[in-house]
Amino acid sequence: MTISEFDLIRRYFADATGARPDVVLGIGDDCALLHPPAGAALAVSMDTLVEDRHFAAGADPRSLGHKALAVNLSDLAAMGAEPAWATLALTLPGPDDAWLRGFVAGFGALAARYRMQLVGGDTTRGPLSITVHVTGFVQPGAALTRGGGAPGDRLFVSGVLGDAGLALVRAGRADPSDREAAALRERLDRPTPRVALGRLLCGRASAAIDVSDGLAADLGHICAAGGTGARIELARIPVSAAVRAECERDNWQPVLAGGDDYELLFSVPPAQVDGLLAACREAGEAVQEIGCLVDQSGIVLVYPDGRVSKDIPDGFDHFRT
Ligand code: ADP
Ligand code: MG
Repeated sequence: MTISEFDLIRRYFADATGARPDVVLGIGDDCALLHPPAGAALAVSMDTLVEDRHFAAGADPRSLGHKALAVNLSDLAAMGAEPAWATLALTLPGPDDAWLRGFVAGFGALAARYRMQLVGGDTTRGPLSITVHVTGFVQPGAALTRGGGAPGDRLFVSGVLGDAGLALVRAGRADPSDREAAALRERLDRPTPRVALGRLLCGRASAAIDVSDGLAADLGHICAAGGTGARIELARIPVSAAVRAECERDNWQPVLAGGDDYELLFSVPPAQVDGLLAACREAGEAVQEIGCLVDQSGIVLVYPDGRVSKDIPDGFDHFRT
């Protein structure tokens, strides 16, 4: 297929998402012109997915479109922000029609769920790489940050942890007809950003982060930012049946260091816990208490058999591996 850069942008991206009233000018000019709500703070974030680093060559383009936006929405969720605008920098080996259609379908479907508009970007030729930048709105002062947790605050996570990490470990080994492997894979390829939960946490949680590098590493960020330690009861961490089977074999790596969960981890002052749980029940948001923040630095793991340890499997660090 031969197509000019401008035709490609027009054909695939100009109508990839719905129009928002706060977009004065979208794709097609030198800049987008955007009109933020009066008084709102802008929450901005950006994440890149690189072939052979974050996903394997030949990965399903629809899933890539979903995930590239989902990981950014997860960052907005972790701040309690309302998603609004996205830009997309795409480096492509060539203008592959089927790939572009699939990518835009995955990206567009998730954007529609949160009424986000793709307002601009950049398209270049080269090894496949996908960068998405998002902007959301949050009331100044109401944003959730990693700091702010205090000793005695209770620790919660959303959803279940470890599925994506287990899918990564098992990638390549799984028989395609294995339904358990397919379900794990789905969690890795199409994470669900906890946007509504993040908004509900504003004014209730003392600190929050999304779990992208593994529970232990991301909890470490909350502890460092707030100047606390933490204690986790491993038996309370919510997991799927597949991950539970690993835990029962004393393999806690997927739960503690698997990464790619995109669940929210947050601390809640004791006085706020009942209100938070009631609000979550009403909103249908699954959250589970897994421990608390403590005075002493470091993370203490309490195993189901009562064993206590400070040894934690490492999370993922691009510059260490
Ligand atoms: P310029 O050369 O002025 O930077 P470009 O030719 O790169 O502009 O892009 C033309 C228009 O298309 C701009 O509005 C830009 O934001 C938009 N655009 C380019 N690539 C993408 C993309 N992958 N997704 C969305 N919008 C894009
Ligand atoms: Mg220009």
